Amino acid sequence: MLLEVRDLHVEFRTRDGIAKAVNGVSYGVDAGETLAVLGESGCGKSVTAQAVMGILDTPPGRITGGEVLFQGRDLLRLREEERRRIRGAGMAMIFQDALSALNPVLTVGDQLGEMFVVHRGMSRKDARVRAVELMERVRIPGAAQRVRDYPHQFSGGMRQRIMIAMALALEPALIIADEPTTALDVTVQAQVMDLLAELQSEYHMGLVLITHDLGVVADVADRIAVMYAGRIVESAPVHDIYKAPAHPYTRGLLDSIPRLDRKGRQLYAIKGLPPNLMAIPPGCAFHPRCPLARDVCRTDVPPLYEVSAERASACHFWRECLHGRS
Ligand code: SF4
Ligand code: MG
Repeated sequence: MLLEVRDLHVEFRTRDGIAKAVNGVSYGVDAGETLAVLGESGCGKSVTAQAVMGILDTPPGRITGGEVLFQGRDLLRLREEERRRIRGAGMAMIFQDALSALNPVLTVGDQLGEMFVVHRGMSRKDARVRAVELMERVRIPGAAQRVRDYPHQFSGGMRQRIMIAMALALEPALIIADEPTTALDVTVQAQVMDLLAELQSEYHMGLVLITHDLGVVADVADRIAVMYAGRIVESAPVHDIYKAPAHPYTRGLLDSIPRLDRKGRQLYAIKGLPPNLMAIPPGCAFHPRCPLARDVCRTDVPPLYEVSAERASACHFWRECLHGRS
């Protein structure tokens, strides 16, 4: 396994108390595989990724337990210096907002080139050549000229391509992309997602794709891990999830995507809001919103039940959910 997160716990100290952002998350991704981590905002998916990348704000954040194995080594037990080396070359991250992730006062050519100067010891001139090549790889028209432009001179979609180019520069084994297309128009979203998927398979990288939108992952993910209130509530191959979810929350997410075969029907929305992480409901955290909830759900935390060899669900009534009685 390229990346294996085991029983990760993260807390945030706030003035009002402790927010339990990540409560025992485990997931893994292999080389050449795409794992989509799905959930509403505040479910802990980004915080988990930040802990994996070593960019969590500490304080107020604090990793209180677990392991992050990257190529077999626990990153949480490495010295900062070693950690930084892995972060530079072994793994890279793509963020939602390229405009704030890129340096506004440097041309994109200088920013891309900097990666090769700093990490590969290249001359400025050679680094510039590589920067143009990378921009061509992510299909930026007129790369040889546009290498002299600043981030704000590009459209949102083109800027996101530049972020992908930055992430790819050192050919990392793993990329974590946090809502990489959320800020873009729907058609541009699809183009950027296709490009990312294509490069991921070409470079045989592991990709962790964090999103709140189940609609964007159908064609690109191999597996999906659904998070709710800091836990994984369902984990399964993507086709299984689309065929029949084994958790009512996943079902709710699935029913809320617009689909051609349901044209004209009103879109479903999961009722209520995700819980306050300082006061996670007892029992199953999803029970206040769940159409299948009954007494046991209010008292007993559901473990991750094994649905099949490749699939798990944290619902006491996963069988009912799977067979559509909800
Ligand atoms: Fe719903 Fe109960 Fe399953 Fe939680 S355990 S998802 S409340 S049916
Ligand atoms: Mg987020």
